[in-house]
Amino acid sequence: MKRQQENEINCLSGLNLAELEDFAHSLEMPAFRGRQIHSWIYEKYAGSFDEMTDLPAAARELLKEKAKVPLLELKHLQVSKDGTRKYLFALPDGQLVESVLMRFADRKTISACVSSQVGCAVGCTFCATGYLGFKRNLTSQEIVDQIMSMQRESELRIANIVFMGQGEPLLNCDEVIKSVHTIIDSVKIGGRHITISTSGIIPGINRLAKEHLPITLALSLHAPDPQTREQIVPITKKFPLHELIPALRNYESVTKRRLTIEYVMLAGVTDTVEQAKALCDLVRDLHCNVNLIPFNPIEDSTGKQIYERPSRQSQEKFKSIVERSGRTVTIRLERGTDIDAACGQLHNKMLNKN
Ligand code: SF4
Repeated sequence: MKRQQENEINCLSGLNLAELEDFAHSLEMPAFRGRQIHSWIYEKYAGSFDEMTDLPAAARELLKEKAKVPLLELKHLQVSKDGTRKYLFALPDGQLVESVLMRFADRKTISACVSSQVGCAVGCTFCATGYLGFKRNLTSQEIVDQIMSMQRESELRIANIVFMGQGEPLLNCDEVIKSVHTIIDSVKIGGRHITISTSGIIPGINRLAKEHLPITLALSLHAPDPQTREQIVPITKKFPLHELIPALRNYESVTKRRLTIEYVMLAGVTDTVEQAKALCDLVRDLHCNVNLIPFNPIEDSTGKQIYERPSRQSQEKFKSIVERSGRTVTIRLERGTDIDAACGQLHNKMLNKN
């Protein structure tokens, strides 16, 4: 909490309107100065007070003395041949997080993937972030400034946000929910264009159901049977499938929102015909789309490659079985294969270099 108060005093990007009005008030400026700063940050993507030309010169000088606009510092940027931009940002306490900007040739819109924690406690065995362990939760301001920092750097208008970067968003519910409100109210990205992806944190799913946020909830299911899921998503032991599925049904009936099921395909582990059938069976009562994610190989902490990517044939076979159950199934397009695109890869590489 102390860290956030310090950030709120010193850095303004990522704060909501009420916080910016309070900040203006703390400098004995009228509240409308807070609204002007808000408009410069969120509508014109200003990165400095010098750009805020409708503020009086004296006000700009005082602001420069007391504050700065960006919260995050860009440490590293990788740009893929396909236009994917992968950012490594330093937080005010020196911790690092990754964010990704994705462009799709068949879609006009730009999507941004944001992190919600430094590291992650869930420890999925196919995930580079899982090997980092958990460091800390991000504040709402740190989440929102990932979006604003990417917009300022790229000069691209972001239209979709996915909480699929580092961390488990529903183990940081308060700050994630606050950030969603700021994304809707200040960044002006509608709830229908925001997706929160969870590994299956039941109390967090119940909390989201009560909040009635107009977002899409994605479950990172990854395996349809308890044994395989326990192996690759260890938090299944705490939140087993037989409790998770009813929690999702409740979420659906309260919010009337269609779910997305994310399913990572690991060759020989989660891509079999039996598992495709078991998946259909498990989600038969849910209104959901299924997104298949062919695995991008990563190395574990000892440098050994873990898991393999399934063949194209196996991906298509799995897809057609699930489609026959009446679901809309997509195979996730690969982005940034020539850079460290998988979540946590760039972070790990930079840590190993230092
Ligand atoms: S996949 Fe997501 S939930 Fe699992 S360890 Fe990685 S960041 Fe955490």
